[in-house]
Amino acid sequence: MAIDTHGRRIDYLRISLTDRCNLRCIYCMPEEGVTWKDPAEILSYDEILRFAGIAVQEGIGKIRLTGGEPLVRRGVPEFVRQLRAIDGVESLALTTNATLLPRFAAELHDAGLERINISLDSLDPAAYERITRGGHLEDALAGLDAAFDVGFSPVKLNVVVVRSLEQDLLGFAKMSLDRPLHVRFIEYMPLGDAEEGSGCHSDGSAGWTAADSVPSEEVIDRLSAEGEAAGLGGLLEVERDKAPGGWGPARYYRFAESQGTVGVISPLSHHFCAECNRLRLTADGRLRPCLFSDDELDVRTVLRGGSDEDVRAIVQEALRIKPKNHAERIGTDRQMSQIGG
Ligand code: SAM
Repeated sequence: MAIDTHGRRIDYLRISLTDRCNLRCIYCMPEEGVTWKDPAEILSYDEILRFAGIAVQEGIGKIRLTGGEPLVRRGVPEFVRQLRAIDGVESLALTTNATLLPRFAAELHDAGLERINISLDSLDPAAYERITRGGHLEDALAGLDAAFDVGFSPVKLNVVVVRSLEQDLLGFAKMSLDRPLHVRFIEYMPLGDAEEGSGCHSDGSAGWTAADSVPSEEVIDRLSAEGEAAGLGGLLEVERDKAPGGWGPARYYRFAESQGTVGVISPLSHHFCAECNRLRLTADGRLRPCLFSDDELDVRTVLRGGSDEDVRAIVQEALRIKPKNHAERIGTDRQMSQIGG
């Protein structure tokens, strides 16, 4: 079992497969001028498999693949199959914008992927296109359908709530009524160029800042009121043991007639450092013990020249230096797409 210096059980590794993406969400990636990592800087699948094998021996059995957009990397289904074959991998998940799921969902499911989190920030086609700088909402929705069709469970939909976007939150929440979809509203985090805020408006004006983060309590109050007005009743709290199996800090609610749930994730209004159970491996081979601390350990060099014991020592070092909390710091030097969101 992996226990860090502060007594937390660390059993969850998020692996970023690439810094590239087929969308350019305005809060996550610049429109132009992105310098992609040189392919030689990106960990090969064999290197990731070796790292994962050692991390799993240390007790880290839950693995999520992310990016960039993980599905733009060639060969993900076969990689999933190999990862799944590692003794001690308990469960495998993927975070994706879903646009490539119509093509890959069946293969991924066959390969042993179980859980899918889909990121989607607007149900309005024009706003979706604006936020993603060119994406098509219908592609993401087709990906969501594909995830259900092939039998992933659970399927979760992650919505970053940004005040100035004026999203239809009830529209999202209603998607949990007719199928077991878990719709989670996440507080926008002003990451990256933290002084200016990491988003930028489509007209090129200043980025979003902390003022654009909507506290989860407000989301719940709003959904409850709008749900009542729409005849769905208010939101009911879901007890922890009845919540969809999660590896993270979401709190769940539901409408009385829902098949799925509505959740909130509150990195700003409720710091959940005390429950933090994760490490992150960036696509360029840095092990990051805390999203909000820029301290990273160089795994790539060790994977390319060291022994398994050297790699194990890096995992143990990450557990040793994982901070107790990130105090008030929310900004990071890298954008989410470069860290692995
Ligand atoms: N491309 C995949 C996807 O769309 O899910 C995986 C990577 S993406 C960086 C992962 C998640 O990070 C997305 O849900 C995105 O909305 C979220 N994200 C990126 N920047 C964020 C920010 N500043 N605050 C909150 N969430 C953010």
